[in-house]
Amino acid sequence: MAPENTISQIAVNAVKSRINLLDFDEAGLRDFFESIGEKPFRAQQILKWVYHHSETDFSVMTDLGIALREKLNLIAEIKLPEILREQRSADGTVKWLIGFHGGNAVETVYIPEPRRGTLCVSSQVGCALNCSFCSTGAQGFARDLTTGEIIGQVWLAARALGHERNGQRKITNIVMMGMGEPLLNFDAVLPALSLMRNDLGFGFAAKRVTVSTAGLVPGIYRLRESIDVALAVSLHSPVDDVRVELVPLNRKYPIAELMQACRDFVSEKHKRTVTFEYTLIDGVNDHPEQARKLVKLLRTVPSKLNLIPFNPFPGTQYRCSSQDRITRFQEIVMQGGLIATVRKTRGEDIDAACGQLVGKVQDRTKRSERIKIKMAELTP
Ligand code: SAH
Repeated sequence: MAPENTISQIAVNAVKSRINLLDFDEAGLRDFFESIGEKPFRAQQILKWVYHHSETDFSVMTDLGIALREKLNLIAEIKLPEILREQRSADGTVKWLIGFHGGNAVETVYIPEPRRGTLCVSSQVGCALNCSFCSTGAQGFARDLTTGEIIGQVWLAARALGHERNGQRKITNIVMMGMGEPLLNFDAVLPALSLMRNDLGFGFAAKRVTVSTAGLVPGIYRLRESIDVALAVSLHSPVDDVRVELVPLNRKYPIAELMQACRDFVSEKHKRTVTFEYTLIDGVNDHPEQARKLVKLLRTVPSKLNLIPFNPFPGTQYRCSSQDRITRFQEIVMQGGLIATVRKTRGEDIDAACGQLVGKVQDRTKRSERIKIKMAELTP
């Protein structure tokens, strides 16, 4: 008998092809149950077990009935990524290296503050956008994460932190500001956002789930049509020439177009503000003149400004602006009427700060090919 026909090989193949229920939001799970001849309300039962009780073993899900549990054991699974390493910073920040099949890994960071705890989640292994000041970009792009790999980061972090043990949530906010460009992995990110928002999932309010983008205009419109969440835009300069150097995507979607998308995002139905992120880099985008131009630009959008001191990483030629420059920049924009905060750098001792997330980008042999494919998706 050929080795591939042995019983154990058949079992291995069956396990390989099992459907990971972590890849589905409620609508997806309802379709899944219908497709196997079961009642769609089973979706709600599964969601509660997985996201409220942190349970991944079908055999303990007693309200499903024994026949369904056996069926699920054969065809489905709840497969989480794996925590490869956990680092805790002196300031309470926690960083996990989370591994996926195929040897790839991303970093997920938890940032506790007095009245909230923010989880920074990754959407891709590496990033195709190649922003010149970001260390994730310097590593290239390996692949998109699946929905299960995205929501799995939240699941693992919540469990590691002792989520909701005494009614007190450790994670109060989620930001898609880890590795990757979430709007370039829209199809996997959307069900993950839906699981974050859904009361049967993690149940976060819309303003507590933030998608951060480098400025993918069609993605901003698609997000607006698809789900109610908060939007953050990585701006970094009010001037196209400077922004192109920092965020090459600006060639395709220049500032004026990006601002229009932001205005449309917050209009009527979505009574929200956009958070603009602005990484302050010495001599590049921290001149008082840029601060004044920024005031003019952001006056046209209901917004908040988040100033982020540049975090250096090996190989970069950029430097962080001086404290004086940062203070001066903040003064100008605040005098201009903007709401501006300077983001405190957290978790520096464990390299968990913005732009320092690296993960493990494996299998880069066809990297340029993959970047080409990814960039082709930018063309609507
Ligand atoms: N691609 C998305 C999500 C990544 S967010 C986006 O661009 O918004 C990562 C955030 O950290 C962005 O605001 C990015 O501009 C910022 N960042 C990246 N590298 C940084 C660095 N070296 N120092 C400070 N902030 C950085």
